[in-house]
Amino acid sequence: MMCENVNLLDSFKIVLVEPQNPINVGTVIRAMKNMGLKHLTLVHPAEMDLQKTQISAHRTEDLLQNIQICDSLDQALQGIHESFGFSARKRTQNWASLDMEAAVSRSLKLAQMSQKIAFVFGREQSGLNNEELKRCSCLVHIETSDYTSLNLAQAVLLASYSLLRQSRMPSAAQSEVPLQRLDNFAPGTRIATQDERIRLLKQLENVLVEIGYFKSADPNTAIHRIQNLLNRAELHNDEYHLLMGIVAEVSNYAKLVERGIQPEKIRPAKSLNDLDPLADPQNIGKLE
Ligand code: SAH
Repeated sequence: MMCENVNLLDSFKIVLVEPQNPINVGTVIRAMKNMGLKHLTLVHPAEMDLQKTQISAHRTEDLLQNIQICDSLDQALQGIHESFGFSARKRTQNWASLDMEAAVSRSLKLAQMSQKIAFVFGREQSGLNNEELKRCSCLVHIETSDYTSLNLAQAVLLASYSLLRQSRMPSAAQSEVPLQRLDNFAPGTRIATQDERIRLLKQLENVLVEIGYFKSADPNTAIHRIQNLLNRAELHNDEYHLLMGIVAEVSNYAKLVERGIQPEKIRPAKSLNDLDPLADPQNIGKLE
């Protein structure tokens, strides 16, 4: 039996984005105390007397004193390896998502590898907006009836309960739970085959030679690491094609430069370079 692994649960923090109601925060603290979670972060909470949260959070002074208050979600997620954004709404394609049990299983495995995990919950009224969900590595939806919107503290209670329960599962059973993919398959999606991955690796190796990368890196080590990375990534077919296309373009670029031709450059309309690392106040209050 895997005993209650206090250290494992220590790797988790619960993040509440703009909670408005002290009773809800108190009930979250109570739920966390019951389930053995210690770290609570509030992002830009409404003005509230945190002592009032004691109404529903008996014997939780330790947690109360430990609360971290942040101005932005980015600040709350500093030092976190993987964050799970809890949403009452199911998203469609292009959002990596897991059901709660799978998310908990994955997160416990990551915690076992000493990674820091955040479970992020949204506002009572409007949940998390899309920009905030994009900051999370993965979306989590808790199964409900057609009425999907749980009370904030109830959602935290269910997630924390699942964490505690799975952390106490017999170790053999737990090791049988595979590390779940962060996946939301569109119909027709498939995983790139081993052959495709090797083809991509070969093209990548060629292009790294073309651009002189190996003058500063050991080829064998670098290629082996990239191979491990590609295997771990379990690339989708379309991601494989995207990477093959990029590698081909880098190769063309190198050839043009070699011939003294200045290649054409087109910037995306919205570049990652333009992203403000701090939350855009315009997004605050936008519905998910
Ligand atoms: N009215 C909002 C829900 C807010 S509930 C909406 O419809 O989007 C407050 C928070 O509790 C949510 O942001 C989410 O983090 C969590 N939550 C509520 N129901 C959930 C569910 N079924 N699955 C996952 N998280 C849920």
